[in-house]
Amino acid sequence: MRCIVATAAMILKLHPLPAIAQGPRQEYRQLHLGVEVRLVVATADRAGADAAARAAYAAIAELEQTFSDWRPTSEARRLGAHHGEWVTVSEPLLQLTTRALAVARASHGAFDPTVGPLVAVWREARGSGVLPTESAIARARHAVGWRRVHVDRTRGAIKLDAEGMRLDFGGIAKGYILDSARQVLQQHGFASVMLDAGGDIVLGDSPPGEAGWRVAVATARGDTTLVLARVAVGTSGPGEQHLDVGGVRYSHVIDPRTGRALTSPTQATVIHPLGMMSDALSTMITVLGAEHGSRVAKGLGAVAIFVSNPPAP
Ligand code: ADP
Ligand code: MG
Repeated sequence: MRCIVATAAMILKLHPLPAIAQGPRQEYRQLHLGVEVRLVVATADRAGADAAARAAYAAIAELEQTFSDWRPTSEARRLGAHHGEWVTVSEPLLQLTTRALAVARASHGAFDPTVGPLVAVWREARGSGVLPTESAIARARHAVGWRRVHVDRTRGAIKLDAEGMRLDFGGIAKGYILDSARQVLQQHGFASVMLDAGGDIVLGDSPPGEAGWRVAVATARGDTTLVLARVAVGTSGPGEQHLDVGGVRYSHVIDPRTGRALTSPTQATVIHPLGMMSDALSTMITVLGAEHGSRVAKGLGAVAIFVSNPPAP
């Protein structure tokens, strides 16, 4: 597979476009995961697509309750209440933790699902508009480290070593959830689908008679349209969630090696067969930078990578 690394292109936003001459589509929108989740099913069978979309949204809602870092009752948050003991978890939590740890290992911790305590510190800073203190960052760092998460696949259990550890799947769960929703649509007989959750996109088969789904990549030199099928497209970069202090923009992505929110405007788009990987790898590249990050992403199966450094807004 060929890998494109376009560092010069300034990719500012990415969104699916309607096809030029398109066949019948059924389209749905619902709020989940803090964003609008859009499902498009290329079919004329409205009743069948309605039922499939209902089932897909139900699966999305259930998985949100598994992974959400915002909901104290989520399975991921409840896991944080136990440390030093094996906790039996659901298959989705087991799977996503395994994948997230693989990305952590390959990126030497630039992507780290244990970054939760630092995310909490910086989230509070976003709320108050005041930068976190050195001691708050240092305290949170004591409870961060992917090597201190253990997964026993045969027992279906996870163990967190240290008190205060908190898994955060904010950088990977959206992609995983869209992958799962795509499978639900497939089980209902719809393979030609497009799922979009605010920048993370999962594509099924091409719409019948069409070359693929048209996805627009906006660049400083104008839009580039990619025609894609059976892949996922993930984007990470300075988005809506950030903190501005003293003329510096702090991202909601944290460099686990320093405990600090990123201040570089790097934006990364990754195309990968799996949504969870396009999501995680795009986040990882914003931490590691274009060159090193793209190398790691290619090693983990990325099909194409676009990295840009738009000027800070
Ligand atoms: P978006 O949510 O806009 O799609 P990302 O996919 O880049 O953005 O994910 C950002 C989220 O990932 C953060 O809000 C946080 O929950 C989590 N996160 C932050 N830093 C890291 C990191 N270094 N490794 C893994 N996850 C991270
Ligand atoms: Mg991501």
